[in-house]
Amino acid sequence: MIRVLDAPTSALEYSRLAPAELVERIEARKRELNAVILGHNYQRVEIQAVSDFLGDSLGLSQEAAKTDADVIVFCGVHFMAETAKVLSPEKTVLMPDARAGCPMADFVTADSLRLLKANFPGAPVISYVNSTAEVKAESDICCTSSNAVEVAASFPVDQTLLFVPDRNLARYTAEKTGRPFLTTSELMDPSAIAPGTIVAWDGYCYVHDDLVLDELAAARSRYPNAKVVIHPEARRELLEQADYVTSTSAMVQIAGKHDELIIGTERGLIDRLRAEFPEKTLIPLSGAAICGNMKLNTLAKLAWSLDTMKHEVVLDEGIRLRAERALRRMLEIAGGWRAPTAEEEAIETDGLRATDCGCA
Ligand code: SF4
Repeated sequence: MIRVLDAPTSALEYSRLAPAELVERIEARKRELNAVILGHNYQRVEIQAVSDFLGDSLGLSQEAAKTDADVIVFCGVHFMAETAKVLSPEKTVLMPDARAGCPMADFVTADSLRLLKANFPGAPVISYVNSTAEVKAESDICCTSSNAVEVAASFPVDQTLLFVPDRNLARYTAEKTGRPFLTTSELMDPSAIAPGTIVAWDGYCYVHDDLVLDELAAARSRYPNAKVVIHPEARRELLEQADYVTSTSAMVQIAGKHDELIIGTERGLIDRLRAEFPEKTLIPLSGAAICGNMKLNTLAKLAWSLDTMKHEVVLDEGIRLRAERALRRMLEIAGGWRAPTAEEEAIETDGLRATDCGCA
């Protein structure tokens, strides 16, 4: 019988326990707390093995919201745990390592986004789900890597759009929707840009932005029959060479249909796919595509998190509600983007905005 009172006191001490003991402790505590463990596709294989759900950040948060679990432990990075909290405010959301942030999400803050918005009055903001809850709260609508094109296409073609924080996904979206494109670093005179331009925050994911053509050429020469699938967070010159450009969730489906596949994304997904399809040849485009932030989560920290109920994600309710609105608009996109109803506008202007919010 495992008892929390018998537990080691620090995450470091947990790391001295055998993996089998950690797994036993995690399973027991999970049942005791009525908890679910969400494992992002980029997690270590041992974390994936104890996860109740595997997937991308939004899909996981949606799965967790549907369960009757009281506790969600999100093995991913900070913005993902925030998204789970946004969609499940009544549940306790924990992160095994509070330092697991996302450098791409951290490129843009709510304050800096408000400054950008001030230069483009009335321009809608599309925020990639890889953004903080505060940034989502400043946005009109969110998008994922698989629906960014659909979200942008739901706005009038001559309407300027602000897109944060990933310049590569924004450029891909602009090309697919036929819109002009520039980054905030290239922006000289906001009043002089062409109608319909996507103005992208100059942020990027270091894991995907570092994938280079040389690595793709080397993989192709070794596996000439393999199809190539690349995540849209990668640079344009790579995306132009891909057979498929898509999200990690869609990569799982594509892997089911091909015997040989070169995969341009974080290494954890390839580890997952190799476990699911041991008979296939699944090749990482780069052996160096590893997100150190994702890998901060370990079995030991997960066990410690469940035993100590740390680190809990807490959100300001005004920010949570506004972030939820941007996420829900995206989720309704199958029917097209819609302007807020009179009731939604009234709720917002009646004080659900954070008191320090300077936006219109
Ligand atoms: S892989 Fe890139 S986008 Fe994902 S958490 Fe790491 S830095 Fe952020």
